[in-house]
Amino acid sequence: MENQEFLKEYHKKRNFDVSSEPFGKSKNKKDKEIFVLQKHQASQLHYDFRLAVDGVLKSWAVPKGPSTDPDEKRLAIPTEDHPMEYANFEGGIPEGQYGGGTVMLWDAGTYKNTRKDDNGKLIPMKDQIESGHITFELEGKKLKGGFSLIRFQKGKGEKWLLKKVDDEEADARKNLTGTEHKSVLTGRTMDQIKKDSEKNE
Ligand code: MN
Repeated sequence: MENQEFLKEYHKKRNFDVSSEPFGKSKNKKDKEIFVLQKHQASQLHYDFRLAVDGVLKSWAVPKGPSTDPDEKRLAIPTEDHPMEYANFEGGIPEGQYGGGTVMLWDAGTYKNTRKDDNGKLIPMKDQIESGHITFELEGKKLKGGFSLIRFQKGKGEKWLLKKVDDEEADARKNLTGTEHKSVLTGRTMDQIKKDSEKNE
């Protein structure tokens, strides 16, 4: 079996006999530049933003969700790396389990690294993450155009901000967090996903 050290924290938090979340096998570098945003009704509603970097999903929890308004900064708290298989996960996590509640695949697509150094060379994503400043373009079903993630508090309790870049996809009037926005995977609402997952228990 391949070394799963990179998923240690992910595995430690979950009981896979009870939760239908994917266990995750190994780093998968095939789906290089994908992103997902999962709406997660746990004890607190939040949106999990995940970017595939070097075969894992780098993850941030965004309590207020994304905004297409370039003047809006959204708090983003880094969470443990998730396996690539998580990019297809939608359903219920049993109550009492870590993250217990309902998960909707709210958006999915590809991203493009857009941050260059002084010589015009793209800075590898992992170096951007380390430096606390990531810039990328999303090509999702709902989210499009440039976004940045910038760390403003380091160390324990690390905090970042997710912000729309001011480009032609920017729109200060759009409301992304209403219940009219359904799953890009199944077209279901949060309520439907919740009901369906309770039936399968
Ligand atoms: Mn979550």
